[in-house]
Amino acid sequence: MDEKDYAKMLDSAIEQLPEVSDKTERFEMPVLKVLIIGNKTEIVNFSAASKHIRRDDKELLKYMSKELATFGELSGGKASFIGKFGSIAINDKFKKYVNSFVLCNECGKPDTSVVKSARQEFLKCEACGAKRPIAKS
Ligand SMILES: [Zn+2]
Repeated sequence: MDEKDYAKMLDSAIEQLPEVSDKTERFEMPVLKVLIIGNKTEIVNFSAASKHIRRDDKELLKYMSKELATFGELSGGKASFIGKFGSIAINDKFKKYVNSFVLCNECGKPDTSVVKSARQEFLKCEACGAKRPIAKS
């Protein structure tokens, strides 16, 4: 086989690729880095992780404080909570947040935004157009 034939074969192989290939691209869940300092728990990459999931860090802080039933505050990209919480517990809550408020149920992508109507909040997916109500916890 000469080079030209090989190029042709490659072209047809590319054409035959299913169009859904970009759907297999998986969302990479950021991992929150947790440090316990004295009687406080710090999440050192809090704002960076919020940015990654395209959510406001203040919103995430509100959610985490509620879930952990403690007081939390933001400072210089970090979040600190009163009390000692392990990395597994923290990341568990974070995953719950991402599943409820960020990931699209239809295509699994994080390209979503929150749309508010008078009585309900919806998660709208920019990738596939799906819209679902956000369950209030
Ligand atoms: Zn979607």
